[in-house]
Amino acid sequence: MATKRSEIKTELKKALKSGEIVPYFQPMVGIRTGLLVGFEVLARWLHPQRGTIHPDVFIPVAEQADLIGELTETILLQAFAATTALKRDLNISVNVSPIQLRDSSLSEEIARAAAMASFPLHRLTIEITESALVDNLELAATIAGKLKQLGVKLALDDFGTGYSSLRNLQALPFDELKVDRTFVSSMIQSRDSRKIVAAVIGLGQSLKLTTVAEGIENETQADILRWLGCDVGQGWIYGPPVAARDLSKIIDAPMSTSTHTLHDSPASD
Ligand code: C2E
Ligand code: MG
Ligand code: MG
Ligand code: MG
Repeated sequence: MATKRSEIKTELKKALKSGEIVPYFQPMVGIRTGLLVGFEVLARWLHPQRGTIHPDVFIPVAEQADLIGELTETILLQAFAATTALKRDLNISVNVSPIQLRDSSLSEEIARAAAMASFPLHRLTIEITESALVDNLELAATIAGKLKQLGVKLALDDFGTGYSSLRNLQALPFDELKVDRTFVSSMIQSRDSRKIVAAVIGLGQSLKLTTVAEGIENETQADILRWLGCDVGQGWIYGPPVAARDLSKIIDAPMSTSTHTLHDSPASD
């Protein structure tokens, strides 16, 4: 992007005020049942000139410009409101930034936002990436403990791409393990990827965590994951992230595809 960071920073500040930062919602689906279990909330910047801007571009700027707390609050409030309006017992998963795991007021802010929308906190999962935890594990554990006390669930996002993953898994009270998309997408071509995914799912199962695979794009990947016993899937095959106004259209649509034979290996080794 040709635009300077400082320019984006100024624009982002305004965008937060004018409602250009909105949540999109991507279906999370039971891999064996084909049933919708909830949505991952993914931030989008609907820029009037430049179109839709993805979080990989503006989240780092928000972090650097000390706007990430405000951004998370905006996303949470809109996501709670949109989900409450559906009147369904669906879960939402919201990403928080590394920086926010050093902020001991995070849990109070989340509780306040949820109360404003009458959203029950046991239906909220907070996704944390591994890189978030590296240098401040003790503080992160304290904040994670507070969130758990509120009934919020915790997911370890992008598992396998960060650092000290096993230590993190032990140090924090996770409920869910998300297998990184890079392993899922290379699973068909690479036997090693398949074995890594199998091992991660096995690890999650033995720790009694819900296992989630992200970036599922085709039926073959879904079949392999189903056969490996993965619980929840997410990816283009079940649907892309959509705007709040489109949620009601997709909650009643059938999500996928095969829920057939769990016993035959599609990827015989
Ligand atoms: P993530 O949490 O790992 O989210 C999954 C990303 O994979 C999303 O990218 C999603 O659109 C994309 N994705 C989903 N299914 C597929 C698929 O089948 N194939 C492919 N190729 N991609 C798929 P997105 O929305 O661009 O978000 C990128 C990252 O930005 C997220 O990764 C998350 O770490 C971060 N992020 C998004 N929203 C927020 C937010 O509100 N706050 C914070 N702090 N970070 C956010
Ligand atoms: Mg995530
Ligand atoms: Mg992820
Ligand atoms: Mg990711």
